[in-house]
Amino acid sequence: MIIECPYCESKVDGEVKGEHESYDPREDPGPFKAVLLKCPVCNNALLGGSDLEQTGPTSHGWSSLTRLWPQQESHIPWEIPAIVRKSLVEARTCFKARAYSACAVMSGRTLEGVCRHHSTNSNSLAHGLKKLQDTGIIDDRLYQWGEELRKHRNIGAHATEENISKDDAKDLLDFALAICDYVFVLNARFNRFMERKIKD
Ligand SMILES: [Zn+2]
Repeated sequence: MIIECPYCESKVDGEVKGEHESYDPREDPGPFKAVLLKCPVCNNALLGGSDLEQTGPTSHGWSSLTRLWPQQESHIPWEIPAIVRKSLVEARTCFKARAYSACAVMSGRTLEGVCRHHSTNSNSLAHGLKKLQDTGIIDDRLYQWGEELRKHRNIGAHATEENISKDDAKDLLDFALAICDYVFVLNARFNRFMERKIKD
């Protein structure tokens, strides 16, 4: 079955090692199938999922596989707002296309989205980041990561001798995602946690 192998960074015809169909007809009428596969190229294990779809008036078929594990890179937490998500998705697309400078630029643009979401009203990313730090939205460590993202965005955006390497692009992308995780996902979860404690 065709599945994307993250180790080989390409689509492969995975060898099926086992399948399991599961669904609860009372709660979830959509049959679901988990498929354990072996990548024929690198021998790694991959887990895919498939839903039963209507293919005709009376016929059904399993959908193409979505990778469940290792988690698909396209997974971005739903709490991250659209203005930020768009840049994150593009940064990932650039990385996959080996466009590392463009990846650095898009990772930096993710932070501009964070600033805009928190309406820092700053014209420059440098001021926006400082404002995020001053208002406690990001702490000193995240500010430092943000500063590196900002500097490398500038390197990526301008025609200079300096290049963005694959390793640097991957790190910058991960820092951008980690900042978004802290700001939009973990902060909100911590606030909900504390609200429950106050009620108890
Ligand atoms: Zn593979």
